[in-house]
Amino acid sequence: MGNLNKIALVTGGSRGLGRNAAVALSKKGIGVVITYNSGKENAETVVREIENGGGKAAALQLDASEVASFDEFAAKLRDVLKEKWDREQFDFLINNAGFGINVPFTEATEEQFDSLMNVHFKGVYFLTQKLLPALADNGGIINISSGLTRFSFAGNSMYAAMKGAVEVLTKYWAKELGGRGIRVNVVAPGAIATDFGGGSVRDNEAVHGFIRSQTALGRVGQPDDIGGVIAALCTEELSWVNAQRIEASGGMVL
Ligand code: NDP
Repeated sequence: MGNLNKIALVTGGSRGLGRNAAVALSKKGIGVVITYNSGKENAETVVREIENGGGKAAALQLDASEVASFDEFAAKLRDVLKEKWDREQFDFLINNAGFGINVPFTEATEEQFDSLMNVHFKGVYFLTQKLLPALADNGGIINISSGLTRFSFAGNSMYAAMKGAVEVLTKYWAKELGGRGIRVNVVAPGAIATDFGGGSVRDNEAVHGFIRSQTALGRVGQPDDIGGVIAALCTEELSWVNAQRIEASGGMVL
């Protein structure tokens, strides 16, 4: 019953890995606030799915690249926590929202760089900072990185570098927030079949075959391979795991 009345905030919970994590968290008895950027209907579907399963959930709009909007978002989050859970704080922040741009180094633009940086690095940094007063002591933060920080597939220099930055800040936050009992870890998924990157891991047979050939377990990842890892990190059993990069890739590029 350790999860009773615990709450997680999952950014980008309207689709893909965030959606899967939100459902997995709710199955552990953890309440979930998901955010969506443009997919309001998708988000409402996720909330219904969780509530039909006996869980508690809410959805809020967030553009994770708009630092100027974070104060307003924090205020809306406070209202939802009060209304739905009668709490002032939440327990776990899952920084998941994001998208990919695959482009050769020679062709990459400043605009692409800024758009990736604003969501994957700057947005993560300042959203987390802004939400720290609302994050309960002894809670946790889980950042989402990528297998691409350990191995390199051409065309991912900007994207993977942003994820590398998130891995570095994970360690620093763990050090600075440990006094409040807050654990900070980073999950690095391998290639997972979602809408990500135009859905190529899911829909493109050539990409599929390549990933399979590079993966010890011989298949591409599915959202179910990741959501449970994120949810497990929010349990008592893993409460001594801190400042770690946990790769969930089925053993890619060993
Ligand atoms: P999806 O494309 O399936 O889902 C992306 C989610 O992020 C959606 O909920 C979307 O919201 C939200 N989002 C996108 N841009 C923004 C933004 N500017 N502000 C707020 N929310 C935004 O991607 P995945 O689920 O596959 O990816 C989730 C995370 O996992 C990302 O950080 C990605 O980098 C990482 N990752 C993915 C891998 C993969 O192979 N799939 C591998 C390794 C890491 P909406 O639809 O409402 O606009």
